[in-house]
Amino acid sequence: MEKIKERIEQILKKRPGYKEILNFYLKIKEEQEKSRSHLHLSPISLKKEWRELLKREGFSLIEKKDFPVDTEASIKLFHSLCEVARGANPRLAEQTQLIQEAVQQNRLNLEEILKGKVKEDKRVKELGLDQKVFSFLIYQSIKPSLEEGVKDLRKELEGENWSKGYCPLCGDLPSLALLKGEGGKRYLRCSYCGAEWRVDRLFCPFCGNREEGSLQYFCGEGEEAYRIDICEKCHHYLKTLDTRVMEIIDPELEDIATLHLDLIASQKGYKRPVPHLWNP
Ligand SMILES: [Zn+2]
Ligand SMILES: [Zn+2]
Repeated sequence: MEKIKERIEQILKKRPGYKEILNFYLKIKEEQEKSRSHLHLSPISLKKEWRELLKREGFSLIEKKDFPVDTEASIKLFHSLCEVARGANPRLAEQTQLIQEAVQQNRLNLEEILKGKVKEDKRVKELGLDQKVFSFLIYQSIKPSLEEGVKDLRKELEGENWSKGYCPLCGDLPSLALLKGEGGKRYLRCSYCGAEWRVDRLFCPFCGNREEGSLQYFCGEGEEAYRIDICEKCHHYLKTLDTRVMEIIDPELEDIATLHLDLIASQKGYKRPVPHLWNP
């Protein structure tokens, strides 16, 4: 956490406009850290034939819903995060209050939602609550569980050659790419579970395009550590963090601190397939 705080201070010196959102991020992160030490997770059961399915059919190891989640710890964390969100910007505070009321009056049952018994989006819509805010709070509440699950599952994949555009663990799309080591090996980072896997440098994960001429990128001014990879075929973009230029403490933090690059990309007409979670 100390390193994260230092990095936030560094960022704010250059871009003070990010103060509010980075404070919010830090408070969420602190609550998640507290929760992490109390987690009780059941082991993940993999299909016997998983290795076969992964290799031959390109199936991910599990599905998003199969991640073990500590429901009790997540509900506790959900309530702490609601308190954090109520101290944030007025719109978020207002929406969070409505969500909290629905939970207190049991119109919204967190346990059922976390256990996948109720379709979250349908219920939230019926109640006229803000879907984006609710999904954000739920996702941040289960994140410590997801991160522990990834630690476990990653071992299973050692030595596997994946190189696809979606996550080998849960099947979701990447939200970031990272360049690492000599020659800049390229890794994609899952938008859901945060797992990383190696892919080719010239490859659009969203449409499979490998033609050099239609894969371009641009950087922000004086920001060589960040770049936006764009694909002229599908008009999607992917933000890339170059860890050779700068030490990355938390990719998610860097993603928030470069929302201005997302704005430029969208002004140029490119889309981010997985919406930026922290985009207010
Ligand atoms: Zn994943
Ligand atoms: Zn593409």
